[in-house]
Amino acid sequence: MPNLMLTNWCNYKCPYCFGIDRMSPKVEAHAMSDDTFLGILDWLDRTNYRAPIHLMGGEPTLHPKFEWFVSTLIERGFPITIFSNLATDKAPEYADKLSILPIKWVVNVNNPKNWNNTQRRNIESALSVLGKNAAITFNIMPDGSDDYWAIDLIRRFNLSKTIKVGFILPTVTNSNYSLTDDEYLTVAEKTVKLAQECDRFGITLQYECGVPTCAFTPEQLGILWKCGSRLNSGCCSRLDITPHGEVIYCLPLATVGQRMYNEFANYTEAKRWFEGRFLPYRKLGRTINCATCNLMTPDKCHGACLAKNLIGAKNVKI
Ligand code: SF4
Ligand code: SF4
Repeated sequence: MPNLMLTNWCNYKCPYCFGIDRMSPKVEAHAMSDDTFLGILDWLDRTNYRAPIHLMGGEPTLHPKFEWFVSTLIERGFPITIFSNLATDKAPEYADKLSILPIKWVVNVNNPKNWNNTQRRNIESALSVLGKNAAITFNIMPDGSDDYWAIDLIRRFNLSKTIKVGFILPTVTNSNYSLTDDEYLTVAEKTVKLAQECDRFGITLQYECGVPTCAFTPEQLGILWKCGSRLNSGCCSRLDITPHGEVIYCLPLATVGQRMYNEFANYTEAKRWFEGRFLPYRKLGRTINCATCNLMTPDKCHGACLAKNLIGAKNVKI
């Protein structure tokens, strides 16, 4: 089921943002309209698919009609997951109102030492009511600090005991801050340390797409497995739909190809079309070792992030 971008602007300006090519100020700010939203729901209904709809942005709680989107999805029987940084002024109010509903919140957090006072107040207030309905997600950064603050946050607010960690995803235009090849190794090592510490508190790691398995040594992969945080990543996107109704494969590849949702008969056809168009480029791989690697499948590694592998490629046409 797709990720619906309710807005293309955000209260944060993270240098690693992989949505940068589709976000204000690079493109004009736009909020998804009622008609576009209802049209997309009718389109999704054609396959009677009932996996969770992901509401995201930008930052979805900045949309002036955020509550209407949620109540419409509930009325129509769609399960919901909300991706938010919870740092907006409206986030505590929405969290409070929606905390009694079976809605999952995936909260993108930066290291709390970088929060300002307003962000701290909003995030902590929202987390305190969401509790187990909220799971945190963040990028492991290639710096010298540890990531144990995430464990403190989970224990303090009784959050879901899973953390979704990511290795910063690059845009195909190479316009955001992303990792060098050497930094992948640093981040892999930090991930293992975090998994070991999490294991002491019954917390496990899950992984965003685009994490290359070969950034870890066999020993490190074994440690993750033993901690219950076995690495499982791939390059196989739920499609994203922008506030204008354009379908893209994922934000890092947003500049490579797009089609309006109603150019496809249904979601399944859209997904098949994108996978087919990108298939020839999969051969690029991340390294030549991908050619013989048994993890070259969509739900395994698949050469890690295709957007990274396409950086600098000429004449990409999908
Ligand atoms: S190209 Fe693949 S790994 Fe990279 S962001 Fe898109 S889906 Fe994820
Ligand atoms: S598919 Fe490629 S990038 Fe992924 S683990 Fe195998 S060799 Fe590494």
